[in-house]
Amino acid sequence: MRLLLLGGTAEARELAAAGVAAGHQVTSSLAGRVADPLLPVGEVRVGGFGGVAGLVEHLEGGGYDAVVDATHPFAATMTDHAARACASAGVPHLVLRRPGWPLDPAYELVADHAAAARAVSGRVFLTIGRQEVAAYAGSEAWFLIRAIEPPPGPVPGHHELLLARGPFGLEDELALMRDRSIEVLVTKDSGSPATEAKLEAARMLGVRVVMIARPRLPVGVEAVETVDAALDWLARHSG
Ligand code: NAP
Repeated sequence: MRLLLLGGTAEARELAAAGVAAGHQVTSSLAGRVADPLLPVGEVRVGGFGGVAGLVEHLEGGGYDAVVDATHPFAATMTDHAARACASAGVPHLVLRRPGWPLDPAYELVADHAAAARAVSGRVFLTIGRQEVAAYAGSEAWFLIRAIEPPPGPVPGHHELLLARGPFGLEDELALMRDRSIEVLVTKDSGSPATEAKLEAARMLGVRVVMIARPRLPVGVEAVETVDAALDWLARHSG
C-alpha cells in the first residue's frame, strides 16, 4: 500500500513507524513550519502542496493508494484541503485525530483566539504555539508565551518568550506557573498527552483556563481516534 501520511504530530510519527513495520510504503508530509522537526520513519516530503488543486496533482502523480490525515486537530485548512482533494482524485481518505482533553466545567470554552484575547487579563500563560500569537498583540495583559520557535508576527507589548518543546511534566508546570504568578492559562483543546500537565497544574493552583474549542471536521469524512484504528483501516484498504 502506498500511503501519503499528512503529519506534524506524535500520532503521525507513530503511524509512520507502524505502517512501515506492517509493510506499507509510507511518505510523510510535513508543512515545514519548524526548522528542526522531529522526523518520522520512512520517506519524508516537506512543504505545502499548493492548495486543493496542487494536492490533487500530487496524489495523481505519486500513485498513492490512500491518504491518512494525521495533522494537528487545529490544522483545519490542511484537513479541509485533504478531504476535498481525495474526493476529487478518488483516493481513500482517513482522518486520524486524537480525542480532546476531558472537559472540566470550570474551563471557559471560546470559539477562537479573538474571543480568548478578549477574555484574558492579568498574568497570562499563552500555550497556543506561535502562529496565532498576533491575535493577542492588542491586549494590555502580561503574557508568558511558550512556543517551539519565536512567533512570526506582532506580539503583546508585555510579554516573556519561553522557547521550549514538550513533553512538560507536572512539577515543572507547577514551578513555572508559580514562579511567573500566572492567573490565566490559554490553550487550544489539542488533546495531547505531552502538554496535558499544565491543565492539572492550573487546577491545583486555581488558575483560570480559557480553552479554544476544536474546529469541526469536514462533513462526511471518515475519522478514527487511535493509531491502532488507523492501522486497521489501512489493513482493510490494502489488497
Ligand atoms: P493549516 O493552517 O491547516 O495549513 C495551512 C497550509 O499549510 C495548508 O493549506 C498546506 O499548504 C500547508 N500544510 C499544512 N500541513 C501540511 C502538511 N502536513 N504537509 C504539507 N503541507 C501542509 O496547518 P497549520 O495549523 O499551520 O499546521 C501546519 C503543520 O503543523 C501541520 O502539519 C500540523 O500537523 C502541525 N502542527 C500544527 C499545530 C497547530 O496548532 N495548528 C500544532 C502542532 C503541529 P498548501 O495549501 O500549500 O498545501
